Amino acid sequence: IARNGHEPEFIQAVQEVAETVIPYIANQEIYNGKNILLRMVEPERLISFRVAWVDDDGEIHVNRGYRIQMNSAIGPYKGGLRFHPTVNASILKFLAFEQVFKNSLTTLPMGGGKGGSDFDPKGKSDDEVMRFCHAFMLELNRHIGPNTDVPAGDIGVGAREIGFLFGMYKKIRNEFTGVLTGKGLSWGGSKIRPEATGYGTVYFAQSMLKTRNESFEGKTVVISGSGNVAQYAAEKAILLGAKVVTLSDSSGYIYDKDGINDEKLAFVMDLKNNRRGRISEYVDKYASAEFHKGKTPWEVKCDIALPCATQNELDEDDAKKLLKNGCICVAEGANMPCNADAVHVFNNAKILFAPGKASNAGGVATSGLEMSQNSLRISWTREEVDERLKVIMEDIHASCIEYGKEEDGFCNYVKGANIAGFVKVADAMLAQGVI
Ligand code: NDP
Repeated sequence: IARNGHEPEFIQAVQEVAETVIPYIANQEIYNGKNILLRMVEPERLISFRVAWVDDDGEIHVNRGYRIQMNSAIGPYKGGLRFHPTVNASILKFLAFEQVFKNSLTTLPMGGGKGGSDFDPKGKSDDEVMRFCHAFMLELNRHIGPNTDVPAGDIGVGAREIGFLFGMYKKIRNEFTGVLTGKGLSWGGSKIRPEATGYGTVYFAQSMLKTRNESFEGKTVVISGSGNVAQYAAEKAILLGAKVVTLSDSSGYIYDKDGINDEKLAFVMDLKNNRRGRISEYVDKYASAEFHKGKTPWEVKCDIALPCATQNELDEDDAKKLLKNGCICVAEGANMPCNADAVHVFNNAKILFAPGKASNAGGVATSGLEMSQNSLRISWTREEVDERLKVIMEDIHASCIEYGKEEDGFCNYVKGANIAGFVKVADAMLAQGVI
């Protein structure tokens, strides 16, 4: 805290891990005196750089770019790039720290990293976004590589941005390698990668529900966000027979009493991915829906909640509202969307609660599968990738049960995910000595 006190999100993420991992370490002789957690909270490398670019009117702008290379004990650094005006070192360090545990849980050989910029893609033309991405990669390229650090997308970085970033990397380095994941299907991308985080979140929730003889069938589901993760979480939940009644963005949420069906979801995908519009436009098209400006969807009665927008979007009061309304399962599609108090409310009530590092790991797991396909220069079918994703999510669920099950049979998935993620990285660090 003395060293990172000015970084609240990073402290929050570390505290959540420390609460469960420190008591575990205390009982494991091999970790005694090795200061493993102390080493894990310090990034191996934190790169910060200037990104200067020119807008359509010829004006020069300067943004700050980052790459946090957190831990490479079990593989090359791997983690997304976020373009959002709130991006700073604290947010990226929290994300990079979480990524280390998440990547370890996937069972694939990937270290943890994260990066991005305080650049705001909203309201920018395609040409401006391209110039920014090119300027960003002009510096980033010297720090990454298919065996060193393999970035992907995150908030504000989707297929369009990955394309521009990859184009500049290829031009500078004169090599066509799997240096980024989330690429287009015709140039090295993996099938199911766009769907993977949302699908994986629902697969994980499905595994949790199964432990209580429940399923998505007939359940009412509230989802926040309307970006990549939210869209595909909704698609899979609908496919499994659930009624999805909300989506949101930073301006508010829509509630559709009839449920969002495939046709309505296709409208949202076009609105968000192609026209880059606001979720409020949904109510102009569908009379069964209402828009709640400036609000989050946690006040809506539901059985299952999937927060898929951003960090700290669900607090203690929201958690209590969800419980009061009968919610039995919360699975985080976003990273750390529930704050610490909300998580305590869910775990004290012993409902099913999955932390993002377990439930949203399907995205990076499929990125890992994209890296494997790139190395082998092959492309697996949609069914093959989806099947591998399902197996990985089931394995992560089993690891959480192994380390998180308590004496009364309740599974604390936060504890399970933290310890399972920690053990693999810690053991690799021990084997590699003090470096
Ligand atoms: P997108 O940019 O596609 O969508 C983000 C969504 O969240 C948008 O609806 C956006 O609304 C909303 N949002 C962003 N910031 C805020 C905010 N401050 N307040 C309210 N709403 C906000 O991002 P993704 O769907 O890719 O990512 C969503 C979350 O999932 C993030 O936490 C990300 O780290 C996490 N995640 C993503 C993975 C992936 O594969 N994409 C993998 C694992 C985790 P608006 O358009 O108004 O900004």
